[in-house]
Amino acid sequence: MYEAADKSNAKWSFQIVPDAPKRDEVVETLECEALVVGAGLGGLSAACRLKELGVESLVLEKSPSYSGRGGHFGVPNSSLMEKYGIVNDLEEVARQWIVMSGNNIDQELLWTFLTRSKEAMDWLLPITEADGLAPRLVDCIYPIAPYKEYYGAHSFPPKGNIRGNYVSKALYEHAKKLGIQCRFNTPVKQLIKDDTGRVCGAYAQGENGIIRINAKYGVVLATGDIGGDEEMCRAYAPDALRTLASEYVPAGCNTGDGHKMALWAGAAMAEEVFPLMMHPQHYAWCNYCSLFVNKNGKRFMNEDIYVQGRATSVMRQPEGYCYSILSGDYAEQVMDSLKYGGGILWGNAGLKYGETLNIATDFLSVERALKEGNALKADTIEELADLMDVDKDEFLKTFAEYNELCEKGRDTQFGKRKELLYPLKDGPFYAVKIGADLLVVVGGVSIDTKMHALDKNKKPIDGLFAVGDTTGGIYGHEYVTTILGNSHGRALTWGYIAAETIAAEKK
Ligand SMILES: Cc1cc2nc3c(=O)[nH]c(=O)nc-3n(C[C@H](O)[C@H](O)[C@H](O)COP(=O)(O)OP(=O)(O)OC[C@H]3O[C@@H](n4cnc5c(N)ncnc54)[C@H](O)[C@@H]3O)c2cc1C
Repeated sequence: MYEAADKSNAKWSFQIVPDAPKRDEVVETLECEALVVGAGLGGLSAACRLKELGVESLVLEKSPSYSGRGGHFGVPNSSLMEKYGIVNDLEEVARQWIVMSGNNIDQELLWTFLTRSKEAMDWLLPITEADGLAPRLVDCIYPIAPYKEYYGAHSFPPKGNIRGNYVSKALYEHAKKLGIQCRFNTPVKQLIKDDTGRVCGAYAQGENGIIRINAKYGVVLATGDIGGDEEMCRAYAPDALRTLASEYVPAGCNTGDGHKMALWAGAAMAEEVFPLMMHPQHYAWCNYCSLFVNKNGKRFMNEDIYVQGRATSVMRQPEGYCYSILSGDYAEQVMDSLKYGGGILWGNAGLKYGETLNIATDFLSVERALKEGNALKADTIEELADLMDVDKDEFLKTFAEYNELCEKGRDTQFGKRKELLYPLKDGPFYAVKIGADLLVVVGGVSIDTKMHALDKNKKPIDGLFAVGDTTGGIYGHEYVTTILGNSHGRALTWGYIAAETIAAEKK
């Protein structure tokens, strides 16, 4: 992990502490009790909760609007889940989380998420309903060991014709009602410390010059992740640069600004690696769990795996892609396979809890990919091979060998469970192209369970807080999907807790 440095000893440019603006460069000074940097889920949650707890905050956002993305908001328990009769056993969830992250995590932080997120979600639910959303639970999990995922992903389909990032919008509307000031197009550049070393404000870039913000009780960094900063990715998360594209919006705003500012103020990055959230969704949406072949025409993995694991293997293939091969009876095969596996890009990420997947609807994404050239279809496997960008002879060999394994009912090559060894016999055949995209990098600033940013000795930096993707600590070598949507769950919960801490420690 890197420390702040000057030009003489910096390995990376982001380590170099910039000079503070000169007094005459400051064109405006703003006063607030707490400065929240970033109007994403973490920042907006913190700001709204702060106001409810009696602390006036100012939210500064780099882009022209609040931001949000995706559809799942995961927590292990909530009052909505209780209505469906679902109460997860936190000890079991924690053990599974630890297994999936190789224990490369801070278990105290994990338990903070597991035990505090219900309160945060129960706080959020009425805020979303007030903005016309109809929260519900998602039915899309990998149901059994070893990759078991638990119910807990909430989604917020709009009741009316609301557009945009629904949950962030609801929080922003709530913030407006509460009278919280948000300024857009105002990137925060650098923190200010007072003589005691306490973080007491920041400099931001306004339309007309530098703005100085004095923040009586401190600053919350909620600037998202580092995925849009190539150099930071090279330093902390080089695999991010191997993905085919970034899906982040507002594009280019996730440049690790909060990470950098924290570093310059003496914070350490969490000891854990900087894992990637990535999904194999670059070309087509559905992967299922049939035969996967790479450009060389070779099979390379047990296709029976959760979404992140699939993305990791696919990313390592020549040119970062493979094909999922389906036969004419894909519908029966996929439906049957969901007894044994699932999760996003295998099951349906939009399915409401208790509903059964409608394969015809699900397959529309493949039909769309066919039109876009990201999936191919032919009556015979030889014709399909001619269309695919693969080594044809190797592919036909692989195809025949895979069918033999299926006939034998034993995958001696990669150990796929016999229940999932569906022979690919009848046409038409499909080749659905798969490639991994980066969503976010979920590592960052070292924090404690109250969201104080920590220095390298794990001591809080007075006045400095970090939340959401600006922080590290609960993910190991990769983003854990033990509860789908938990990155949103984390941003929400960390924002909620940071507000409580600031309100409790007001000084
Ligand atoms: C396409 C896509 C889909 C996703 N789907 C899901 C999902 O379904 N479930 C899930 O859990 N996660 C999902 N994620 C990840 C999820 O969006 C993030 O983990 C989460 O939103 C992080 O919230 P945050 O508040 O920490 O940061 P962000 O939501 O990234 O917000 C950070 C904000 O800070 C602003 N900012 C940055 N620098 C500055 C600065 N210097 N000054 C002021 N403002 C600044 C940014 O513009 C941004 O608005 C998805 C990600 C992508 C890209």
